[in-house]
Amino acid sequence: MTFDYDLFVIGGGSGGVRAARIAASEHGARVGLAEEYRMGGTCVIRGCVPKKLMVFASSYPAAMEDARAYGWDVIAAGFDWGTFRARLDTELDRLEAAYRGGLKSAGVTVYDSRATLTDPHTVALADGTTVTAKHILLATGGWPFVPDVPGAALALTSNEVFKLDRLPESVLVVGGGFIACEFACILNGLGVEVTQFYRGSQILRGFDDEARGHVAEQITAGGVNLMCGTDVVSMEKAAGGVLVKASDGTERVFGAVVYATGRKPNSKGLGLEALGVQLGRNGEVVVDGWSQTSVPSIYAVGDLTDRINLTPVAIREGHAFADTVFGGKPRQPDHDLVASAVFTQPCELGTVGMTEEEARAQGPIEVYATTFKPMRTAFAGRTHKVLMKLVVCARTRKVLGCHIVAPEAGEMIQLAGIAVKMGATKEDFDRTCAVHPTMAEELVTMRKPTRTA
Ligand code: NDP
Repeated sequence: MTFDYDLFVIGGGSGGVRAARIAASEHGARVGLAEEYRMGGTCVIRGCVPKKLMVFASSYPAAMEDARAYGWDVIAAGFDWGTFRARLDTELDRLEAAYRGGLKSAGVTVYDSRATLTDPHTVALADGTTVTAKHILLATGGWPFVPDVPGAALALTSNEVFKLDRLPESVLVVGGGFIACEFACILNGLGVEVTQFYRGSQILRGFDDEARGHVAEQITAGGVNLMCGTDVVSMEKAAGGVLVKASDGTERVFGAVVYATGRKPNSKGLGLEALGVQLGRNGEVVVDGWSQTSVPSIYAVGDLTDRINLTPVAIREGHAFADTVFGGKPRQPDHDLVASAVFTQPCELGTVGMTEEEARAQGPIEVYATTFKPMRTAFAGRTHKVLMKLVVCARTRKVLGCHIVAPEAGEMIQLAGIAVKMGATKEDFDRTCAVHPTMAEELVTMRKPTRTA
């Protein structure tokens, strides 16, 4: 049987674009790709990239205050959201064009259209045309999930925050995960009065407990009104915004309510159920280690598969798929020891490997942890502290986990992640000479365990 394409990709985000480009340019496959919205997906259009630019934008007030302590005569006249938004839009246009350009030069045919599956080798496009492909890759990502509370339609998600015409004076952020914590800090830094509700007892569930506590303290000290053990009961429209009734019995009008209560895989309406593509409880497409679904010609990568929902992981899944199916180089994506960062402020949380709690459950450990005021901000009179922490296996001496709460922790954990991935021992860290004066030098100068377990 002949097909129009060797590969048809549905979804132009990080995972889909990488797979399409590698299959076409490195392995000579005939590739088509359909994207219903903008090329680049969540990461580029409404996720990592605009979020990080907003983190930068929101960090200036503190930097300007500190500059005064360093002798600079700085007057901050105020923040103009309109100016920032316009530049952000221009930057996203540039990135989208770069993604399109990359696909074009790789020889991929792009369809700006929604696509659905009609059989294991056939894709129907929104204009009624159909294309056939030997292999189909699903890479449609995820979408914010808002729980079914009364008035849920009034809630914004991170998607809409990037598109606000003006910043509200007050915002309620709901959730305690990556997005909630990052947006609470961003909005706070931009001058919005921020309250954050989290239903559990401590934010950032799943991260190292000590690090979570450290981040929570800093978010609070930075000015976010963080309320753990609190949830929204209902929302209704009110003069000046949204009236929120909370589980602690209080009521208050917020200019806007931003829900960051997780994301769901984008698997609905693709025709998957009819073809027998197995879905999990969360709507995720179930795949094996090769990213192959229960229908052999159909593969899936990225957030749609709900494995580790991070851009670099989706990229690796897409690349491994293309090398395996089209390059004669079978390999499975490696999901072990993936480092990540939560871009909170003033300190980010960088993490790789096991939390102290996970490591304890596996056997005897030593914990090396230190907190201190970083030189740069301590000089300016700030009181916040950074945390450097290593979790070490008492038997093998391997560093099982590294957790950093500090400015630029995302940059530091990238490098610490190499050592941990290589299986470095505590003694390998110790014999590495410090770079002085830095914050990260503490990672190689902690001599005595803080505790053993
Ligand atoms: P997370 O899964 O990280 O967090 C969801 C939060 O919402 C949790 O605090 C959860 O509470 C809470 N929650 C879930 N359901 C409800 C509910 N019904 N009512 C009230 N609260 C609820 O999701 P995010 O949306 O923050 O982020 C999605 C994914 O995107 C992340 O897992 C991450 O993989 C990725 N991401 C990565 C970033 C990075 O690398 N810096 C940045 C942003 C996103 P509980 O803990 O109690 O379940």
